[in-house]
Amino acid sequence: MTHPHTHAPVRRLGERAPFGTTPSGETVEQIEIANANGVRLAVLSYGGVIRAIHVPDRDGNFTDVALGYDTLEGYVGDTAYLGALVGRVANRIAAGRMSVDGRELTLARNADGNHLHGGMRGFDKAVWSMTSFERDGAAGVVLSHVSPDGDEGYPGTLRIEVTYTLDDSDRLRVDYLASTDAVTPVNLTQHSYFNLHGADVGDVLDHELTLVASRFTPVNEALIPTGELRAVRGTPFDFTAPHAIGERIGDADEQLRLARGYDHNFAIDRASDGDLALAARLTEPVSGRGVDVYTTEPGIQFYSGNFLDGRAIGKGGHPYRFRTGLALETQHFPDAPNHPSFPSIVLRPGEEYRTSTVYHFVVRT
Ligand code: BGC
Repeated sequence: MTHPHTHAPVRRLGERAPFGTTPSGETVEQIEIANANGVRLAVLSYGGVIRAIHVPDRDGNFTDVALGYDTLEGYVGDTAYLGALVGRVANRIAAGRMSVDGRELTLARNADGNHLHGGMRGFDKAVWSMTSFERDGAAGVVLSHVSPDGDEGYPGTLRIEVTYTLDDSDRLRVDYLASTDAVTPVNLTQHSYFNLHGADVGDVLDHELTLVASRFTPVNEALIPTGELRAVRGTPFDFTAPHAIGERIGDADEQLRLARGYDHNFAIDRASDGDLALAARLTEPVSGRGVDVYTTEPGIQFYSGNFLDGRAIGKGGHPYRFRTGLALETQHFPDAPNHPSFPSIVLRPGEEYRTSTVYHFVVRT
């Protein structure tokens, strides 16, 4: 006889399984975690990639909403940073040049003469140490990585620890921690692409987005911020009330033209520094799937997948075409070291780099 109050124990930690070997012979593993509602994530030690995110629609149908690949080869060859941790410094640094404390740094130039997402071999291409844990109605994965002195031009040995925690309220929390033995810039992010129809279903132009940001940082033709903080009011960048992504993306707007769509940093309106604040709300109206993004960071890059061109062949053999996924990358502002008015990304010995971002998966009826 079954007792009405006994439930099968929640199986939060899945198998730790091999996921291939890198060209240099390092072993890569995948860990799956789940919560009491059946939400599931798959995490790789390669790049700290979140390879899959299974969430329900309003009828309880689960689908995988994260763009990714079936094999390690997919990730090794990837140039779109699908699902990966990004560092040492996310986004662009003009000409890979900056100075800290009067010292000129020259970083790897991997994007039209500029530094992008950590360089030729950023943290997305590193094999991280990975452990899993289960506690207090949550499960998670701890990833750690040591970036050596001189890595892609960055000074000092940087030790990084990133924790993914999935709880029973369908919140995925990402906690970033880093320390250094020499002064260095640091700006870490998570580069998951979402398509809330399902990672293999059409584009994201019907997704409705709210950004809690009354200003954004306009860019030049190389997608480097000009240094201006511009009001969004009266422009296609005003997402302070929800708008479908496709509604204004084709407008004759200089900033949309330069970036071929949305690929901009928004300055989050926050009541106080350092607390988790709502930055973005995304809703896919057909299924009701949504995700709310909270962060301690001052900025969020809204990237509408403008460089996806069908060359990346994703899970199930599905090509990721133009705007079939979007990223909401919490961060300090791009090219911060070259804009004294932007919040600093310099980390010094003895200091602790600590930021957090929460992706709350929801169903909106
Ligand atoms: C950037 C894009 C870049 C893409 C790489 C995004 O974070 O904003 O400009 O092309 O990453 O996939």
